[in-house]
Amino acid sequence: MESKKFILQEKDIPTAWYNVMAEMPVKPRPMLNPATKKPLTPEDLYPLFSEEVSRQEFNDTDKWIEIPEEVRDMYRIWRPTPLVRARGLENALDTPAHIYFKNESVSPVGSHKLNSAIPQAYYCKKQGVTNITTETGAGQWGAALSLAAKHFGLELAVYMVKVSYHQKPYRRSIMQTYGAEVIASPSMSTKAGRKIITDHPNYQGSLGTAISEAVELAMSTPNCKYTLGSVLNHVALHQTVIGLEAEKQMEMAGEYPDIVIGCFGGGSNFSGISFPFLRHNFSGERSTRFIAAEPASCPKLTRGVLQYDFGDEAGYTPLIPMYTLGHDFSPANIHAGGLRYHGAGAVVSQLRENGLIEAVDIPQLETFAAATLFAQAEGIIPAPESSHAIATAIREAKKAKESGESKVILFNLSGHGLIDMAAYDQYICGDLQNYEIPESEIEANVSKLEKLL
Ligand SMILES: *Cc1c(COP(=O)(O)O)cnc(C)c1O
Repeated sequence: MESKKFILQEKDIPTAWYNVMAEMPVKPRPMLNPATKKPLTPEDLYPLFSEEVSRQEFNDTDKWIEIPEEVRDMYRIWRPTPLVRARGLENALDTPAHIYFKNESVSPVGSHKLNSAIPQAYYCKKQGVTNITTETGAGQWGAALSLAAKHFGLELAVYMVKVSYHQKPYRRSIMQTYGAEVIASPSMSTKAGRKIITDHPNYQGSLGTAISEAVELAMSTPNCKYTLGSVLNHVALHQTVIGLEAEKQMEMAGEYPDIVIGCFGGGSNFSGISFPFLRHNFSGERSTRFIAAEPASCPKLTRGVLQYDFGDEAGYTPLIPMYTLGHDFSPANIHAGGLRYHGAGAVVSQLRENGLIEAVDIPQLETFAAATLFAQAEGIIPAPESSHAIATAIREAKKAKESGESKVILFNLSGHGLIDMAAYDQYICGDLQNYEIPESEIEANVSKLEKLL
């Protein structure tokens, strides 16, 4: 019988993260200070982030960055994660393609986010920080950080996007169970929150707003640092454990991916599954395609512009060179809350500009149809975010069937959907819809950006 799963041992957990910046043919543009428009240095980030991640953010010379033993030790709770051959899905699609997925849903919090939460909490602790803050969209990052913060003895305050706070109450309970304080954003506890509530009393929040609130709290509280679950280079770096393990597991399966797919919010899980394979494209050994799958309601890579923009809505963060829909873009209340972010990370944006990765945008109903087929064929109910990757894998598997080619497709299953059943409920009842954004709305929004490129 052929193997269904490819399983590594604890000793195979990577000992170093892969730093794609060291090998990119064109390095990303620097982040800028919004006041002076001067490039930032690691020291500029020290007030906000731990010093170690601030240095990692700018490190474009070290190809490998060692994973601390304390971090690897905590990774052992659930890593290595399985690589699975999706034969059930292949059969359902009657495709000659071989479909594999890396199952990051087996982490205790149900998503890949813990891969970066652990090192970020660890570096804060090591530096003597006592309190950390963050924002969370659908609740996955907050849940991951809550567990990591508790493990390293840090106090955590989480600003949770209001729409998710109400749609996903169990994520809030998970964070509270791990001991974190959870605040619905926009809130009255910060200047940024108060301003938004005053201007738009019914605003249901966005990642951008929640980031503004968490940053403000970190900057105004002694011995407190901010952490971010996506977008930044150091987060993508930490997530490369996904692709590094997958690389060994594909070898066990005796195959190499022609196509690698990840869903796309700010870019962390896509980067994590892609970058280790991308390095073999850089060296010319391979010509794998990399596809970022984003929601049609928030299509920054497919329809946004490349420009310097703020990472948050209130404009507190440095200016980041990114594909963006504008930092005050307000995406529809789709259920893939983790993908409702206006921009893409600097590294991914650079790779996209240079044609080294591709992007697609997928309508909400197609993602739920894909999720349902996947659940029935493979048994796992996927997160609405991950379903964008599944829908993309299905599109590619169908193309392979049409052309009669036996493509090897690898996608990242970034999380499970067992805490998202309210969304599935709406899909089953026929209450979900697609959201297309008119070109004029995108143009109106991005035309407000200062043209620095
Ligand atoms: C947060 C999240 C995402 C989106 O974030 P990225 O940084 O783009 O990976 C995707 N899937 C799941 C399950 C998530 O929790």
